[in-house]
Amino acid sequence: MDTNLDKNASQDREITDRLYSGDLEMRIRQEILLGIGGIRALKLLNQPPSVCHMNEGHSAFMALERIRILMAESGLTFPEAEEIVRSSTVFTTHTPVPAGIDIFPPDLMQRYFSQYCRQMGISMQSFLSLGRNQSASTDEPFSMAILALNLSSFANGVSELHGTVSRKMWRNLWQSLPEEEIPITHITNGVNTRFWLSDEFDRLYDRYLGPRWLEDPVNQQIWERIDAIPDAELWRSHERLRERLISFVRDRLRLQLEQRGAHHSRILEAEEVLYPEALTIGFARRFATYKRATLFMRDKKRLSSLLNSAERPVQFVIAGKAHPNDQPGKELIREIIHLSNTDEFRRSIVFVEDYDIEVGAYMVQGVDVWLNNPRRPLEASGTSGMKVPINGGINLSILDGWWCEAYDGRNGWKIGNGEVCDDHAYQDEVEQRALYESLEKEVIPLFYQRNSDGLPRGWISMMKASMRGVCPVFNTNRMVEEYTERFYLPCLLQWNYLNSNDMIELKQLVNWKNKIREKWEQIFISDVQVINPGDREVGEDISIKANIKTGSVDSDDVSLELVYGPLNARGEIENGDVIQMEPVKNGASGIQTYKGQIPCLKSGRFGYSLRALPFRRGLNQKFDMRLIKWW
Ligand SMILES: *Cc1c(COP(=O)(O)O)cnc(C)c1O
Repeated sequence: MDTNLDKNASQDREITDRLYSGDLEMRIRQEILLGIGGIRALKLLNQPPSVCHMNEGHSAFMALERIRILMAESGLTFPEAEEIVRSSTVFTTHTPVPAGIDIFPPDLMQRYFSQYCRQMGISMQSFLSLGRNQSASTDEPFSMAILALNLSSFANGVSELHGTVSRKMWRNLWQSLPEEEIPITHITNGVNTRFWLSDEFDRLYDRYLGPRWLEDPVNQQIWERIDAIPDAELWRSHERLRERLISFVRDRLRLQLEQRGAHHSRILEAEEVLYPEALTIGFARRFATYKRATLFMRDKKRLSSLLNSAERPVQFVIAGKAHPNDQPGKELIREIIHLSNTDEFRRSIVFVEDYDIEVGAYMVQGVDVWLNNPRRPLEASGTSGMKVPINGGINLSILDGWWCEAYDGRNGWKIGNGEVCDDHAYQDEVEQRALYESLEKEVIPLFYQRNSDGLPRGWISMMKASMRGVCPVFNTNRMVEEYTERFYLPCLLQWNYLNSNDMIELKQLVNWKNKIREKWEQIFISDVQVINPGDREVGEDISIKANIKTGSVDSDDVSLELVYGPLNARGEIENGDVIQMEPVKNGASGIQTYKGQIPCLKSGRFGYSLRALPFRRGLNQKFDMRLIKWW
C-alpha cells in the first residue's frame, strides 16, 4: 500500500515514505494504515478475509477494523464481534525484547481512536484495556503486542527457544498459569528454498535428487540422496559460487570507492581484495547491537594472525544496515569499515554497502561459513542462516534462535554452549574467545585439510550433513504446513461454526461466557483426598478424589484437571503433566465429585494440584477465557 498519491494531503503522503522514522505519531498512522487500511483494501478488492494472521503487533489494528465491520454489517454486539474475530485470528511475535514492541501513550490513542470507539459503542477505557496488562490503569501505554495477544486465538514465536522466551516475557497476562502452559507456542521460521537456491546447486539437485525434488522439499528421504553427489562435483559447484561472490564484492567495492571519490590507486586495489580460494566467512544482517557484529574483531592480533596467514588465510565479507535511530548500531558499522580500510585488513575484510536481497543472495550462496553471534536469547530466529546450507555453506553460530534446534554436532559448529549471562561484558569476552577457539581448532583446520586430490573431504562431509539435516526442515513448505494445520484450519473451522445458523452458535457462546464469567467466583475445589496415601513404587498409581462446589454454575460447564510432576527446589511443580479428572455420579446438587489417577512412572519427589476450568463444546482453547481456579 502506498499513500504517495497526488490527491492525498502532504502529511498523509509521507506515511509510507519510510519504514522507521522514529516519530511515534507517524508510527501510529502507519499502523492504522497497515491494519485498518489493509482490511479495507481487501474489502474493496472483494476479498474479505475469514482467517487473519498478524505478523508482529504492527498490524494488530486489523482486528479492530474487522470487529467494527462485523458490528456495522451483521448487527453484532462488541463482545460477539470480538469473539468471532479473536477465534479467527493468528498472531506471530518476532521480538524477544520488550523494547522492540510498539507502545502508544493513552493521549495519542485517544486522539486517533475516540471516534472509532464511539462507532464500536465501547468506552475509551475498555478500548484501551484491550492493549493493556492492567485494565484498571490510567497511564499504562497501549501495547500493540498485548492487543494482538488479546485478539487472537493462536500465538507463536518463531523458534522453539523464542517460544520459551515469549512465554516468559508475557507471563503477566496469564498470571495463574505455569509458564510452560502459557498459550504461546512456536512455529520455527523457514526460508523459500527455490528463492535462495543458486543455479549451480539447482542443477546438482536436479541431477542427484531427481528433477522433481522441489515439489516435495520437506521429504527427508529425497534429501538423503545428497550422499550420492560426488564430492568433487559438489566442491567444484561450491567453489564457483565463492568465486562469483568475490567478483561481485570487488565490483561493489570499486563502485563504493568511486562514489566516495577515492584515489585511483585505491580503486584499483578493489580488484585485488579477497582470495578466491580462501576460507570465506559471511556475516550479513541488521546491525542491532545484540547481534554483536564486531565480536570477531575484538582481539585484533589474534584476528590478524588468522586473516594474514600465508598457508591458511581466512576472510570476511560483511554487510548490513542499522536502524536510522540506532546510534550504537551505526557505530558498529563504522568500526568495521574503519578496520577494513587499514593496510592490515584491507584485503581480507570487506564491508559491502547497501545491503539488500541481491547482496544477501550472493553472500548466502557464496560463503563457506555463515557466522551468527547474537547475545542469547535475543535472536528470535536468525533466519538468514537457513539460506546457506541449501547452497553448501555451513553455519557457525551461538546456540540461539533456530540454530539451537538445528545443530546436531555434525552439521555445523556452535559457539559456546547456550549460556545466558547478565554480565554482558563478561559474556562478550567469553564468547569472543569461544569464537576464535572454534575458528582455530575446528573450522580452519577442517577447511584446509586436503586430500591428495585437493579436496577437503572432511569439510565436504560436513556440507552434506548440513544440507541433509537443515534443508528438509527449515523451509517455508514445512512452516506453512504447520501454520495451516495447527492454526489456519482450526481458525477456519471456528469461523465457519460461529457464522453458521445465522450466528446463533456465536450468540449462545458469548452468552454462555458472560454467564460463566459472572459466576466464576462461586467455583470452589474442596475435599481433596488421596485414596491410597503413602510412598508409591514406580509402576503404581496414586488415586485422587476431589469435589467441586459449582454454586449456581452447571457442573457440566466446568472441567477439573489434575496437574502433577517433579518438584523443584522451591517445592513447585515443574514441567508438569495434566490429566483430566473424571466426574462420578453423586447426589448433592451444586457439588460434583471427581476421581483421577496419577501414574508413577519415575522415582523422585512429586507434587500435584487441581484446577477447574470453564468447559464447553465450541470453546476452541481451554485457557481462552483466562479463567482458572486452583485448589
Ligand atoms: C533472510 C531473512 C531474514 C533475516 O534473517 P537474519 O538472520 O535475522 O538476518 C528474516 N526473515 C526472512 C523471511 C528472511 O528470508
